[in-house]
Amino acid sequence: MPRRNRSFATDSVAVIGLGRFGGSVAESLVRLGHEVLAIDERAEVVQRWADSLTHVVQADSTDAVVMEQLGISEFHRVVVAIGTDIEASVLTVLAVEEAGVPEIWAKAITAKHGQILHRVGAHHVVYPEAAMGERVAHLVTGKMIDFMEFDDGFAIVKTRAPLEAIGKTLAEAGLRTRYGVTVVGVKRPEEDFTYARPETYVEAGDLLIVSGPTLKVEAFAAIT
Ligand code: ADP
Repeated sequence: MPRRNRSFATDSVAVIGLGRFGGSVAESLVRLGHEVLAIDERAEVVQRWADSLTHVVQADSTDAVVMEQLGISEFHRVVVAIGTDIEASVLTVLAVEEAGVPEIWAKAITAKHGQILHRVGAHHVVYPEAAMGERVAHLVTGKMIDFMEFDDGFAIVKTRAPLEAIGKTLAEAGLRTRYGVTVVGVKRPEEDFTYARPETYVEAGDLLIVSGPTLKVEAFAAIT
């Protein structure tokens, strides 16, 4: 039977479900310097993560009593990374919500799943497969080298400098007026990125970091 653990620091995070997504979240949190309590119901999964994560517990997260014993209510942030088993995902969010955790992140695999998670108390719902699928579609079909979209239809991309800007400063190129996008950074081959300034000169082979409304950023990348 899992025992309550009161020794976690206030910036600790509990990650429930150590599949591909949850495992990666837990590993990254540890790398970022956070203490992580990781929970999975399968013994072989717990065994697999025992070396790289300090606190890995085998438990059924749908059981509110067990979660209470694990001290889940003392965590400020919990990530529910169960996707495939929707019932387990929903019951886990419910148990975590009932424990009074103020910040619950949950992974959903469909929009309906996400709606239910919101209803039962998740504060943030993420769709890792859908988000990555969309991102790859942009990279495969477009001219973008990297693409990141935020919730509100705003995106940041890495793209090649368009021909029309080469040999000009950013002020002269007037990309904001013409395309409604803002150049944030410029990278010369073999050099680091520098912050873009009006007087930054654009040369052939430069890469640009460009931000703006997704549709405008997509249209801009298409001309490069
Ligand atoms: P991914 O697609 O990221 O690999 P999965 O949904 O397939 O995610 O994996 C979820 C993980 O959650 C699995 O390792 C599974 O053992 C674990 N899990 C599922 N149900 C429970 C539960 N009730 N309690 C604890 N862990 C669970």
